[in-house]
Amino acid sequence: MFDDGFSAEKLFNQGYSYTYDDVIFLPGFIDFPTDAVNLSTKLSRNIDLSIPCVASPMDTVTETSMAVAMAALGGIGIVHYNNTIDQQVDVVRFAKAHQFPFVSELIFVSPSESIHCGDEFGKSQTIFVTETGRNDSSLLGIVTKSDWERLSDSEKEGRVSAYMEVNPETLPSSYNFKDVAGCIASKKLKFVPLVNEDEQVVNLVTADDVERMNSLPKLGLPSLGKDGKFLVGAAVGTRESDKERLEHLVKAGINVLVIDSSQGNSEYQINMIKYVKRTYPNLDVIGGNVVTKYQAANLIKQDVDGLRVGMGSGSICTTQEVCAVGRGQATAVYKVSSIAEQHGIPVIADGGISNSGHIVKALSLGASTVMMGSFLAGSNEAPGTYEYKNGLRVKKYRGMGSLEAMTKGSDARYLGDTAKLKIAQGVVGSVADKGSVLKFVPYTIQAVKQGFQDLGASSMQSAHELLRSGTLRLEVRTGAAQVEGGVHGLVGYEKKYF
Ligand code: 5GP
Repeated sequence: MFDDGFSAEKLFNQGYSYTYDDVIFLPGFIDFPTDAVNLSTKLSRNIDLSIPCVASPMDTVTETSMAVAMAALGGIGIVHYNNTIDQQVDVVRFAKAHQFPFVSELIFVSPSESIHCGDEFGKSQTIFVTETGRNDSSLLGIVTKSDWERLSDSEKEGRVSAYMEVNPETLPSSYNFKDVAGCIASKKLKFVPLVNEDEQVVNLVTADDVERMNSLPKLGLPSLGKDGKFLVGAAVGTRESDKERLEHLVKAGINVLVIDSSQGNSEYQINMIKYVKRTYPNLDVIGGNVVTKYQAANLIKQDVDGLRVGMGSGSICTTQEVCAVGRGQATAVYKVSSIAEQHGIPVIADGGISNSGHIVKALSLGASTVMMGSFLAGSNEAPGTYEYKNGLRVKKYRGMGSLEAMTKGSDARYLGDTAKLKIAQGVVGSVADKGSVLKFVPYTIQAVKQGFQDLGASSMQSAHELLRSGTLRLEVRTGAAQVEGGVHGLVGYEKKYF
């Protein structure tokens, strides 16, 4: 072999904490096309994914829509726990009740209610009538905005039951997208509600949705459990009360548990892992966060099924500034995965991902998946609504250790619930509108495949083998090299990735 570049082992043993932007890989040898790159991977010992993407358990990132979309793409969403037990369980149940890549907004009223203004129809322009006025009873009728607008003022003041359309056309929620799209086309429907075995509405598909979906990149293999339902994960903390939360989440059918802590090497976490392993031996448990071999070894001893790596690398995070503890993410991922790999434990590189190159780096440095917050938070599927800031369409994105989020309960992650004075380890901000994850994640994955091809790695395993054998060569980029590696020297430009 030529003496060119450094092996990861050598580069990461020099006493520096490197982050993704600090390092660059040297190209390898290409003997396969981009589409031959296989990025299927493991989230944890027993959970397989077809793409290495995980949505972070944050309250501005992962609720039902994100969990459903990520599973439809072949990744997974981890549902956050900055809410009541019932709310978290509902998010999980609702996500698992779907076979569809998207979830429409559903609005319900009871037959005795009235509709007072057009805004009540929301985005979907349709209101469902059920006995309880919620989604937990069977469908009695339907009112569309256009039908309602045709009513006289006195009719509008009356009860919905007087003018709702009874027995609307529905389809079983077990139908997949192709079946539903086929029915919509053949029967020339404008929309169709999908109902479960109890005739409860779980989704609404419109002809526009079908058109939108058909214009998106083709979806790969979805993430499904043995029961044929979408894979959904959930996070909990390490408090006593989290055991009750977990019991309900397990009943709701979660496929994997993430024990959420910013510094996972603690007796609280170890006791929680022991409890989960004892009580739910068939549930995969992901421990963390860790950034050192020593921290990782302590959790590996407890038989964790996956490790979440990152401390202070998140875009909204101020841990390194406030606590002076953490590690550059490239070093952290490399170090932890070198020990995790010896025990067959997959590593999640959590935080600090802002482009496809960062994903290539995380995976080539030993991670099996990447967990993302900011990268996904500007999507249609993230919770919250868009607003305008300085002419830019944005969505709110906040750290779970921000004062605002901690006030709602997430302080357990930052051990702030027992401390008398709350100290923030995160900020509240906003991110630009990115459209649907169903569009930009497939493009991102294609870019990652191109990166793998340049490295000469046709799969996750082959990337990890190149790393461990020292065949993968890398270098640190100087400040000037980083400038050169980005767009530079132009008066102005527009950056479009696809
Ligand atoms: P991002 O993808 O935005 O760079 O980072 C997301 C990750 O940051 C999350 O998955 C989580 O590990 C971490 N994180 C979320 N909120 C906070 C916070 O308020 N403070 C810190 N230190 N980390 C956070």
